[in-house]
Amino acid sequence: MTFETPAVTSRLPAVGTTIFTVMSALATRHGAVNLGQGFPDFEGDPALVDAVVEAMRSGHNQYPPMPGVPALRSAIAGKIEALHGTRYDADSEITVTAGATQALLTAILALVHPGDEVIVLEPCYDSYEPAITLAGARTVRVPLDPVTLRVDLNRVAAALSPRTRAILINTPHNPTGTVWTVEERNGLRDLLRPTGVLLISDEVYEHMVFDGQAHVSAGGDAELAARSLVVSSFGKTFHVTGWKVGYVAAPAALMAEFRKVHQFNVFTVNTPMQIGLARYLADPAPYLDLPAFYQRKRDFFRAGLASTRFELLPCEGTYFQCVAYEQISSLDDEAFCRWLTESVGVAAIPLSAFSAQAPTRRLVRFCFAKQDATLTAALSRLQAL
Ligand code: PMP
Ligand code: GLN
Repeated sequence: MTFETPAVTSRLPAVGTTIFTVMSALATRHGAVNLGQGFPDFEGDPALVDAVVEAMRSGHNQYPPMPGVPALRSAIAGKIEALHGTRYDADSEITVTAGATQALLTAILALVHPGDEVIVLEPCYDSYEPAITLAGARTVRVPLDPVTLRVDLNRVAAALSPRTRAILINTPHNPTGTVWTVEERNGLRDLLRPTGVLLISDEVYEHMVFDGQAHVSAGGDAELAARSLVVSSFGKTFHVTGWKVGYVAAPAALMAEFRKVHQFNVFTVNTPMQIGLARYLADPAPYLDLPAFYQRKRDFFRAGLASTRFELLPCEGTYFQCVAYEQISSLDDEAFCRWLTESVGVAAIPLSAFSAQAPTRRLVRFCFAKQDATLTAALSRLQAL
């Protein structure tokens, strides 16, 4: 550049490039098997792609309505009612978003004010705190129980203050793979009853719950649903993370505020994908079959790790498996992930990337949303450790 660019003050001074991008780039550079960033290395259903192509070819290429294509909003409302018994009005209570990341940021910008506090349960997904910071609010980090990695409602209760505007939860949970029980949801409902606190529930892994357990949605409890924004993502459910289509379900009063921001954030989301997804959702089999599909991959991956010195943590849901590596290395988790990528040829994500506090255990996360051949290649390298 010939001329000087004016200096700026960062809105997010502590933020660098996300760990997922960093580890994927490192994996590519070293030809490592990438079990770091969470995305499938296989294609979604060709029928879904055909439905999108057909929508493009038949001329669905202009702006859809701001909150999303009506047929998709109806399909989403129908799916939620069938699975969780809650009836959301497709016109006023469902909005299609550009993935869950946009849904979360828009929800926070719409409902959280400067000076408010938002509780997150740590470890948590890396987009939560920057979104809260951009809203001018303060992130209050409540650690999960260090042994069970489950919510500790006593700690949540202790963190509530007159300034608490919202609590952000995630089930099934990235990175730990735990899923909320009905008792935990009931406990949170009872805790929030006397308050005006909103619940933002990140449920992007809703269809990856194993061993016959059911996904416990915040939207499945009528009382809790009245204060909740439930966020999900088709990228996870249909193996199309690059499409960036998700949605939010919330009572009309909250959704009205959400849409005020959404319309100036993205206005709306690409039309042909929405039409294709609406048609594809007519058949529930693809998402109802997903737990069995990923449970088999989880079991295959865990069986392969059983003979190693990695200690496997439970994995009740998501497509992530956390392991402790204390018997293999004394490196910190970030250094261990770099070494694993560069020297062993397998990329993983350090759990410290999800926490502000120093980790109590040395843990890393592997993504098993991969072809069996990819998992086999990674396992043969990990088994040699
Ligand atoms: N929440 C969680 C817990 C995630 O793991 C992810 C990442 N995929 C997202 C939100 C973002 O989802 P999307 O790709 O639909 O923006
Ligand atoms: N959600 C994915 C994960 O946890 C990553 C998405 C991203 O790269 N931002 O790995």
